Amino acid sequence: MEPKKMKRPDTDIAVVGAGVVGLCCAIALQRAGYRVVLIDRDGVGEGCSKGNAGHFATEQVLPLATPGLLGKIPGMLLDPLGPVSIRWSYLHRIAPWLIRFMLNTRQRPFAAGAQALQSLNQGALAAWQRLLEEVDATDMLRVEGSLLVFEQQQTLQGYQPTLAQLRQHGVQAQLLSGDQVRELEPQLAGRIEHGVLFPETGHTANPYRLCQRLASYFRQLGGQFLQQEVQAVQLTDQGCRLRLADGDWQLPQLLLTTGAWSKPFVQQLTGRSLPLDTERGYHLMLPAAADQLRIPVTSAERCFIMTPMEEGLRLAGTVEFGGLHKPANMKRAEMLLLHARALLPTVDERPGERWMGFRPSLPDSLPVIDRAGPRGQVLLAFGHQHLGLTQAALTAELVLALQQQKAPAVDLSPFRLGRFS
Ligand SMILES: Cc1cc2nc3c(=O)[nH]c(=O)nc-3n(C[C@H](O)[C@H](O)[C@H](O)COP(=O)(O)OP(=O)(O)OC[C@H]3O[C@@H](n4cnc5c(N)ncnc54)[C@H](O)[C@@H]3O)c2cc1C
Repeated sequence: MEPKKMKRPDTDIAVVGAGVVGLCCAIALQRAGYRVVLIDRDGVGEGCSKGNAGHFATEQVLPLATPGLLGKIPGMLLDPLGPVSIRWSYLHRIAPWLIRFMLNTRQRPFAAGAQALQSLNQGALAAWQRLLEEVDATDMLRVEGSLLVFEQQQTLQGYQPTLAQLRQHGVQAQLLSGDQVRELEPQLAGRIEHGVLFPETGHTANPYRLCQRLASYFRQLGGQFLQQEVQAVQLTDQGCRLRLADGDWQLPQLLLTTGAWSKPFVQQLTGRSLPLDTERGYHLMLPAAADQLRIPVTSAERCFIMTPMEEGLRLAGTVEFGGLHKPANMKRAEMLLLHARALLPTVDERPGERWMGFRPSLPDSLPVIDRAGPRGQVLLAFGHQHLGLTQAALTAELVLALQQQKAPAVDLSPFRLGRFS
């Protein structure tokens, strides 16, 4: 990389990527006394963190690659309303990722992955509560639980081993009858036969506004925000170099929180080709239906979630493999309405915003939280797949521990970058 011009801003660390993970990390570092510049090409919280389902899903301690999944995939792909789809022109690109993913359905990696996810999720809510107290934004998190609902007895039977595993991992879960489910959420349809209440989970009524609140606190602490694209990164003797549109920056340290876009940067910094891809997900807003539910409700059969939000009821979910560049297929968002209609018979169906976001996903369902570079001048925190909102505040505490070379509260060995070599 040939420098056009070198700047030496008054900065200790550049955090690249102002999604929920980058924002939490930028606050933790700035508060600890580092001078932080947070950089994002699109603004604050405009990536995957903008339109997620707002669910602090601490109960999701099992990796997505579950034993027995292989047999279910063809049926999922053939169902036009199904939760998983592949853009066929992307198949050759995603195939190596899928092979690695399927290898993770073996018992041993599955068990190790569950252990690792539990180690993050068990402290995730408490970390958010600490952060939001400090930010004076405790209103952005409601710990009122969430429901998983079942329309068929058979699905519940199939779910029992999973429930037992969740409980073994310390997840609180209460099995409910259909009537008990409707006592909690009266608008839910009579076709729901059972539910599981996860009382120790939470939701936010606006994940985008949560990002904005975090950003203003970061600025209040003296942090700087810069809206620019980082074009390339490089290790140097003094630290790192960032290529921006108007020149190069030389900085002592860099934290990569670029979510699904992290792969080329990791390659430039370490020479590693990481199996990072994206599970594209969609949401559809029903602006006049926020009052239908009190807490997030996930359907076990239909594999999507409905979360009551400030701007309406958010229907969210689905996984689409199609990479970072293919246009969104908003039919994936619109189909969620058919599912919502079945579960909420009186729902006001007038649709609002349709949205697609890029979940940053590694094939073992675990993020990378690590340090790299000969002098440890690069910090890494990305790949939080379906759980980036849930795990962001804890990730920030762990990143700070790495930066300060203190013992982290969680064993970080499952989250090392080197696990894929
Ligand atoms: C439909 C859907 C529902 C979801 N629901 C939930 C949920 O309920 N609970 C949960 O915990 N998680 C959920 N998730 C996942 C969660 O949203 C993500 O894991 C999380 O947002 C990832 O955050 P991030 O900060 O790592 O990435 P992002 O929010 O994507 O941020 C990365 C940032 O990096 C910036 N960037 C990238 N490249 C560059 C560059 N070259 N220069 C400058 N900036 C750059 C981007 O502009 C972006 O703002 C959901 C995801 C989807 C799609």
